Amino acid sequence: MYRFVAPLFAVFVALVAIAALAAVQAPAWSLVVMVLVGAAAVLVASRARQETARRDLYEKALKKKIDRLRDDVREHSTVLDRLADGLDVAVFLTDGSQVVSYANERAISMFQFDKPANQTLLAITLSNELAELVAKSQQERTSQQAELNLRHPEERIVRVHVWPESPENRRYFVSLYDVSDLRRLERVRRDFVANVSHELRTPMTTIRAMAETIEDETGGDAFAHHNYIDRIIKEVDRLTRITDDLLTLSVAESGTVSKMPTNAAEVVRSVVQPLVKKAESKGLTLSLNAPTELEVHVNPTQLSQVAINLVDNAINYTKEGEIAVTLSEEGGLMKMEVRDTGIGLASEHLDRIFERFYRVDKGRSRATGGTGLGLSIVRHIVESHRGRVEVSSEMNKGTTFTVWMPLS
Ligand code: ADP
Repeated sequence: MYRFVAPLFAVFVALVAIAALAAVQAPAWSLVVMVLVGAAAVLVASRARQETARRDLYEKALKKKIDRLRDDVREHSTVLDRLADGLDVAVFLTDGSQVVSYANERAISMFQFDKPANQTLLAITLSNELAELVAKSQQERTSQQAELNLRHPEERIVRVHVWPESPENRRYFVSLYDVSDLRRLERVRRDFVANVSHELRTPMTTIRAMAETIEDETGGDAFAHHNYIDRIIKEVDRLTRITDDLLTLSVAESGTVSKMPTNAAEVVRSVVQPLVKKAESKGLTLSLNAPTELEVHVNPTQLSQVAINLVDNAINYTKEGEIAVTLSEEGGLMKMEVRDTGIGLASEHLDRIFERFYRVDKGRSRATGGTGLGLSIVRHIVESHRGRVEVSSEMNKGTTFTVWMPLS
């Protein structure tokens, strides 16, 4: 626009000047000078205006760029915050005095504190070992790793990693990963292997001792031999029971068996009937109260395993009285109750009896042919069917096991 207005304005000023000079009859050269000066002034003014317009445009573009960069930085920081908050690892950022300037959500929930406000890592975690590890990293300006036991706000084992934010900065990142579950599972596995070895070794040692005795006493009488062989057979049967139960347990734990619509009443009846004889031989009554049909979506073999283990235990741990099995439907769930009038269980054992190889009285369990795996098989089967098993008991009065399983 200025490109057209400025020359026109210059021509206009020149014409006015010419007319004015002509009116006063000025000499011709002054006319020419006037025109040139006017034109130059107009050109300079138009250049200045053009320059201002260009600077305005440049400033606007620059501001836009800065705004865009600021938005980018804000977005990156939000994304980083969200990433840090989504991690299953607690992350802290501390300064040289170990004052926490940043903590992600996991850190806040792990140590149950409000957003960091000038608190030190020690004040938040109450762990001297952690503070010492960070101090070591600060002194040596190296990254440090360790596994620590924390006591606040609850007992847990964590893998800690401390590393400097950058070589020139005195800030440090501290990450903590909770490995309590992992270590607990490792301990359970270690205990399990130790228990299995122990359980298998005892009968094997007996078998070996019996076999050696027979071998040494070649001239011994047939009755003694028969006695030893009888005991060997018993111990071999025991080994078989343990290995069978271990196999059943591992299938129950894998949770890979197929489930199908099953008449639970029929399955439980087929378990109870053959055990009536065993109960009667001890002078006990075994009764079943079940509808003719109760359909559940289960693995029939596993359901019968649950019933066998509970009813067999009830017979084994009852000296007199009765064992009552009831099956019913309650609130969309199958409810199976096995109630006995047996020796009962002290409250401190109630949580532990579902552990593998846990027995209140090892001798009594052994005498009844128990392996210590029956109830842990029950629990694994029931849980793999999304059900639960409960126990209530009173010493010398009796015990009731209740199994709940969804119908479908
Ligand atoms: P076991 O092969 O020793 O019976 P279980 O896992 O079936 O192993 O049971 C674990 C322990 O729980 C038993 O050794 C016993 O001490 C206790 N127990 C189980 N059922 C009963 C019951 N009905 N009455 C009393 N104690 C029981």
